[in-house]
Amino acid sequence: IPEYAFIGRSNVGKSSLINMLTDRKSLAKTSGRPGKTQLINHFIINDTWYLVDLPGYGYARVSKTSKKAFQKFITNYFEQRQQLVSAFVLVDIRHQPQIIDLEFMQYLGEKGIPFGIVFTKADKLKPKAIERHVDDYCQELLKTWEELPPYFITSSSKKMGQDDVLDFIEATNEEIEALKND
Ligand code: GDP
Repeated sequence: IPEYAFIGRSNVGKSSLINMLTDRKSLAKTSGRPGKTQLINHFIINDTWYLVDLPGYGYARVSKTSKKAFQKFITNYFEQRQQLVSAFVLVDIRHQPQIIDLEFMQYLGEKGIPFGIVFTKADKLKPKAIERHVDDYCQELLKTWEELPPYFITSSSKKMGQDDVLDFIEATNEEIEALKND
C-alpha cells in the first residue's frame, strides 16, 4: 500500500502535524524537547495508505557520529522503500529557507523521489506575512527547480491545512489506483 513520509528539522512541528493528520492525539506525542522522534513510526490511514514518521534531522546538540548515523538511517529508508509515493518536507513558515532543508530536497530530487513542502506553524504569522514568506520560499526554490513542488500551509494548533494535505494524498492514491486498473 502506498506510503507518504514526513520529515523535517527537529522542532519543526512534525509530531503536532502528524497528530492533526491522524486525529489521534495519543499516537505521536509532542514535546517541546527537540529530537524526541527517534525511530520510524507507521500510521495506517483509512486502511489505504501509510503515513510514515521519519526522525528529524538537523539536531543542534548531538555528536557528529550520531548525526552521521541518523543520515544513514534516513538515506537507507529512501533507498529501500518501494511503496514510497511522496515525501513531505516540513518547514517552519517563520524561517527563511534553510540550507539543510534545501539540500535535503535536492537529495530527494537526485533520487527521483517526489516531495511536497508543508509549511508549519502558520498561526504564528499574519496572512500578509504568510504570503510573503511563502513567496520568498518559492523564489528560492525556483533558483534550482524548474517547477515548484506542491506545498501546503498548515497550523496544527489552529487545525489549518489538514484537509489540503489529506485531500492531496487521497487524490494521489486515486491516480495510482486508476493507473493500476488501466
Ligand atoms: P517535532 O520535534 O518536529 O515533532 O515538533 P513538535 O510537534 O514536538 O513541536 C515543537 C514545538 O512547536 C512544540 O512546542 C509545539 O507545541 C510547537 N508547535 C507545533 N506545531 C505548532 C503550530 O502549528 N503552531 C504553534 N503555534 N506551535 C506549534
